[in-house]
Order: sequence, then structure tokens, then C-alpha cells
Amino acid sequence: MADFDVIVIGGGPGGYVCAIRCAQLGLKTACVEGRETLGGTCLNVGCIPSKALLNATHHLHEVHENFEKMGLMGAAPKVDWARMQAYKADVVNGNTKGIEFLFKKNKVTWLKGWGSIPAAGQVKVGDEVHNAKAIVIATGSEPASLPGVTVDEEVVVTSTGALALGKIPKSMVVIGAGVIGLEMGSVYARLGAEVTVVEYLDAITPGIDGEVAKSFQKLLAKQGLKFVLGAAVQGSERTKKGAKVAYKLRKDDSAHEIEADVVLLATGRRPYTAGLGLEALGVAMEPRGQVQIDGHFQTSVKGVYAIGDAVVGPMLAHKAEDEGMAVAEVIAGKHGHVNYDVIPGVIYTTPEVASVGKTEEQLKAEGRAYKVGKFPFMGNARAKAIFQADGFVKLLADKETDRILGCHIIGPGAGDLIHEVCVAMEFGASAQDLALTCHAHPTYSEAVREAALACGDGAIHA
Ligand SMILES: Cc1cc2nc3c(=O)[nH]c(=O)nc-3n(C[C@H](O)[C@H](O)[C@H](O)COP(=O)(O)OP(=O)(O)OC[C@H]3O[C@@H](n4cnc5c(N)ncnc54)[C@H](O)[C@@H]3O)c2cc1C
Repeated sequence: MADFDVIVIGGGPGGYVCAIRCAQLGLKTACVEGRETLGGTCLNVGCIPSKALLNATHHLHEVHENFEKMGLMGAAPKVDWARMQAYKADVVNGNTKGIEFLFKKNKVTWLKGWGSIPAAGQVKVGDEVHNAKAIVIATGSEPASLPGVTVDEEVVVTSTGALALGKIPKSMVVIGAGVIGLEMGSVYARLGAEVTVVEYLDAITPGIDGEVAKSFQKLLAKQGLKFVLGAAVQGSERTKKGAKVAYKLRKDDSAHEIEADVVLLATGRRPYTAGLGLEALGVAMEPRGQVQIDGHFQTSVKGVYAIGDAVVGPMLAHKAEDEGMAVAEVIAGKHGHVNYDVIPGVIYTTPEVASVGKTEEQLKAEGRAYKVGKFPFMGNARAKAIFQADGFVKLLADKETDRILGCHIIGPGAGDLIHEVCVAMEFGASAQDLALTCHAHPTYSEAVREAALACGDGAIHA
């Protein structure tokens, strides 16, 4: 007799969602988590604490930039870093405790400790071995390293250290212009730090629509972030002040150095599977360290599944959650499925950046005939009222059929706006379907409709 129908290893968004869904589907479920709290990277040292700091510092930015314009006068608030950190901790605590509550509500057993898989059908936690009919690996990821850069989480930090610095630095070098680097760079720039982002490629946010990336860089530069692009970091060294970063410009191989109080290494994340015993178990791995899975999330070992950051695909909490639900359904004998063509990506800076589906660059590379409907937030009354009219919505549709192929938004509320396009894409909608849908006025979402109108006979307010 198995102790459990399913044991999920890892209590992040992939693992905890999977465990809850398994329990809801009538399976006796346990989730192994080695941290003190549930919620994984996302709730503890990722999405949630970073959004708390982005929220707090966004308000600060508003006070300095826009309050007087609206007739809101008076002394600007002073930053109490310890209280801001306490606010962040409260947000994290409320959310992680929430998952604990959901486990109890759904009768998921939390096996506290680090798990390993000594044999198929067995999970070892501490000295105890538990039997399970199915095992799900949801062990997530950890910050990637860079040769020559030694992280101490005080002066040379990863995102984990950057979320909990002892004091606000006067200057910061961010290595890597991806989502995490730019979000954390924004936080400290708004807190008064001089932030320089050093990026290997010639553009920021690799993979997002080129036009959006260009606008985004300009708008961040307006907020004070400096960019050194096309720069290969050679290494970093502690100094009296903080640390210096040595880099070579790729265009001419010239060598440069930059010094700052704090260096944030934000060159991405790598899958974390240490200590699981996968090699001995004979689980096949991908060349880049992810657990190899088939179309049903099953590894090369029968009854052992894997999801989330530990497998191939975008390292996003909602992708992990979707896989968690889907694998639960597969294990329960249903038809779990994830549509990887409609996974939105969001950057929670101001302005926000959001995208789903194909970029223009991808469509060009595929040789697909497409049309572009673009609408600037300058024509959106609500965006103008909050001084965020700089961005735009760009909708891409098939030239012949008008079917929506992708959407890229830079502007207010982009991270929420993108979802009407996601739903439309899931239903195979055309740009005209969106254009014919009444949108409330005055809302930012009118800009999405206008972009859809621009795919047809034209936007009204542009
Ligand atoms: C600073 C930052 C900001 C981010 N912001 C966003 C965002 O805004 N939106 C977004 O979608 N994504 C964001 N991400 C990415 C997101 O956090 C991850 O994609 C997501 O957490 C992956 O979920 P997961 O369940 O696969 O793994 P994780 O969240 O990494 O969880 C894995 C868990 O497994 C546990 N574990 C590992 N090995 C074992 C073991 N052997 N035994 C027991 N437990 C184990 C770990 O302790 C961990 O708690 C951010 C990441 C960072 C670092």
C-alpha cells in the first residue's frame, strides 16, 4: 500500500498548485518543502517581494514626479528602509501563510524537509521513506552564476540579496538587462541609487518585441537608469567602496571598469535538482540541466513527473502553476494540457511591459504574412490623466485570416491588459472580434481595442 497517491517535491507555484489540484481530484497528496515556508522562490524571494518593493517605490516616484502636477503639495515622504523591508516581509508572510492554509483546507500533507527519490515510487525526507504511486519534481531554480563573479549576497548579490540589502546603496551595477535586473534596478533607481545596467547583447530584455524593447530602454533611461550594451563582463572584485566590474565592449574589445556600492548579478536562473538523486535513479536530463519530460510531463522513469522551472520553458510562476494543474490532471487520468503558445510575460516596472504570442521578429523569421495594429497611449484619455501616455499597444494578426498572433504592450496596466488578448487567442479570435467588443470608457483597455481597430479600418483616436 502506498502512503500517498502523489508526492510533490517542492512547494513553489508549480508544486503547491499541483498538490492542491491533486487533492481536489481526490488523490491522497503530500508536498515536500525544505524551506521554512511554502510558496517557493516566487513567494519568498521572487515575484512577491519584488512586487512589494516595486509598489512602494512606485508611489515614491509618483510623489516626486507627479504629485505637484496634480496640485498635491507638501513635504515628500522620507524613506524608512527598515519599515519598507518590514512591509515587504509582511506581504511575503501573508502570502506564504495563505498557502499553508490552503494545504490544510485541501488536506495536503506538508512533509517538512529536503526530499530525494531513492527509487521509483519512494521519496525520502529526513530519515523517513514514504511510498507514492506518482512523484512530481517541482524543485524550481536558482540564480545562474557567471565566471569571475563571486556572489557574497552582501556587496555582490543575486536577486535574493538585492531584495534584502542592509541599506540603500548610492550606486549599483546590474549585470544583465533581463526582467529581474530591470525590476530590481528600477526599485533602487527610484530610491535614489545611480544604476548602471551592463548587458552582453545589443538590446535589453532579449526575446521581447524589438520596438517595445527600444521604447522601454528610452523610458527607463528617462528615469535615470544607465545602460552599457554589447558588453561582456569579465569579472568582479571587491573594493573599499563596494565592488568593481570589468567588462569588454564587444564592438572593439576595449576593456572598461565600473565601480559601485553593490553589484547585482542578474544573468538568469538555472534549474535546481541537486540532492534529488536523479542520476542514480536514471532520470534523463536536458543538455542545459533541466529534467527531460515527455508531452505528459513524465520523465524517463515511469511514475516520476517534472514541472516548472526544473523543466524546459519560460521560467515563470504562472507557467509552473499551469503545468502543476495539468500534471495533476494527467496523474488523475484526465487530459491535462498547457498551451505554450499563449503564455503571457510581464515586466512590472513603470511603465509595465507585457507580451503574448509571436513577436514581429518571429513572424518575419517564419515568413508569415501579418498585419500590425498599433495604438499609442497618447490617444488614451485615462493614460494621459496619470502621465503615462508614452507607450503603445501593438497587436499582430494574420494578414489573410485576421486571427490574432501576438500582442505587445508597454504602458499603464499592461500586465492586466494582456489577458483579454490571451483569452481572445485561446478562442482563436480575430482582431475584428476584439474591435467589435464594447470596452468601457475611460479605461486603458480601450487602447487594446483601438489597436484591434487599427488592424482593420483604422483606430479612432490616433
Ligand atoms: C526576483 C524574482 C522575481 C520574479 N518575478 C516573477 C514574476 O513577477 N512573475 C513570474 O511569473 N515569475 C517571476 N519570477 C520567477 C518565478 O519565481 C519562478 O518561475 C517560479 O517560482 C517557479 O516556480 P517553481 O514551482 O517551478 O519553483 P520554485 O518557486 O523555485 O520552488 C521550488 C521549491 O522547491 C523547493 N525544493 C527544491 N529542492 C527540494 C527538495 N529536494 N526537497 C524539498 N524541497 C525542495 C525549494 O526550496 C523551493 O521552495 C521571479 C523570480 C525571481 C528570482
